[in-house]
Amino acid sequence: MRTDFGIVVIGGGLVGACTAALAAAEPAFANLPVALIEANPLRAPPPPDVVDLRVSALSVASARILDSFGAWSALDARYKGPYCDMVVWDAAGKPYGTASIHFSASGSSEPNLGHIVENKRLLWCIYGTRAFRDGVSLLEGELASLDLDEERAELTLTDGRKYTAQLVVGSDGAQSLSRKLAGIEVSCQDYDQAAFVTHVKTALPHRQTAWQRFLPDGPIAFLPLADGRSSIVWTTKPEHAQALVRDSAARVEAELEAAIDGVLGKVTLDADRVSIPLRMIHARRYCTERFVLVGDAAHTVHPLAGQGVNLGFLDSAALIEVLAEELTAGGTVETFCERRVLRRYERWRKSENTLALAFIDGLNRLFGSGSGVAASARRWGLGVVDQATPLKRFLMGRAMGTTGELPRLALAHPGSRQR
Ligand SMILES: Cc1cc2nc3c(=O)[nH]c(=O)nc-3n(C[C@H](O)[C@H](O)[C@H](O)COP(=O)(O)OP(=O)(O)OC[C@H]3O[C@@H](n4cnc5c(N)ncnc54)[C@H](O)[C@@H]3O)c2cc1C
Repeated sequence: MRTDFGIVVIGGGLVGACTAALAAAEPAFANLPVALIEANPLRAPPPPDVVDLRVSALSVASARILDSFGAWSALDARYKGPYCDMVVWDAAGKPYGTASIHFSASGSSEPNLGHIVENKRLLWCIYGTRAFRDGVSLLEGELASLDLDEERAELTLTDGRKYTAQLVVGSDGAQSLSRKLAGIEVSCQDYDQAAFVTHVKTALPHRQTAWQRFLPDGPIAFLPLADGRSSIVWTTKPEHAQALVRDSAARVEAELEAAIDGVLGKVTLDADRVSIPLRMIHARRYCTERFVLVGDAAHTVHPLAGQGVNLGFLDSAALIEVLAEELTAGGTVETFCERRVLRRYERWRKSENTLALAFIDGLNRLFGSGSGVAASARRWGLGVVDQATPLKRFLMGRAMGTTGELPRLALAHPGSRQR
């Protein structure tokens, strides 16, 4: 049956926009109409001199995926803050002491471990790529209902507009309505933590290093911004995060300096302050007939390892790869939305994401435990991991997105698909 679109992506955040652009850039999908439905699409580029509060540590793999359709090279170098080192330590230890781990790009074949980028600025670059502009119909609107039947999917927006599609990709974030409408359940865990987020100036240079110290209520990270400042993500009790938003600047600056053990000297607040509640959500299934989940709609993870959007970009690339394989193996747009095809994507990404979620959750619990035995074990463990080269290399590879079962586009030389 004829449909308005081959693929409709719901939610044009970073992962949905990337998925739509990858679909538009995929040669096997030539002439397949792609649409992206987004409730609040960006209408103008972010102002050049204001660094948005929401930034992400992007892995090497994410940069490769984004580069495959021109979004990474479109992001100006002055907005990409490379980090070459990462120092992680326990509250009871010291940055380079025995209870710490030091990851360095010098121990890898890459020039850096990743980059800190602004979410909105990157999103604007994705929207601006040729693949996106020429190949994606961006529809401003909010999904209200979804009917998935044997012949097609029918989507209705809150203003009454209706569209039909062969396949619907749910990328509408942690509170995904499309996931709910498709009847997919989630497992959910409240962390009883919130992330306090702001940007600061520091007396000492960050030296392109991501600094992270594990405190009893959660980790504090100073992430190096391209303009020399640092972005703070401090995971702590919700009431403490709220107090950090409200309290006087002088008090918060003193708290931040003490929390990071003074490694960057005097700290000065230099942006708005927000508190974001944290939950872990994992969809029990990633697909049904004609419907598939990517990004935070499939899995919402604790920010301590800076992995959420990186896992989402891997979902996007893996999904497009599976669908393209089906078409090049003789399948059609009528068959690529069958559950047996979508299950290939689900098996691949759910197992990788389950591993990542378990690891991140485990770290949060281990470091959150104040008990004497757990605290001694983790201090000992950090030191051991720092000395154990193969294990350290494994963890670094996972963080950079260069190990694991990777989609072709996340590999070093997949061949450019830029049009
Ligand atoms: C404090 C903090 C720090 C983080 N740091 C990092 C980091 O360093 N590295 C990293 O990889 N990840 C990080 N993350 C995680 C990362 O921000 C998320 O994983 C990522 O933004 C998810 O992107 P998404 O596109 O899947 O979802 P979202 O960004 O939530 O986008 C969903 C989109 O769907 C739209 N939408 C929702 N409902 C509808 C509807 N009914 N109809 C139409 N549109 C709809 C919304 O408007 C939105 O644009 C961090 C998270 C937090 C909280």
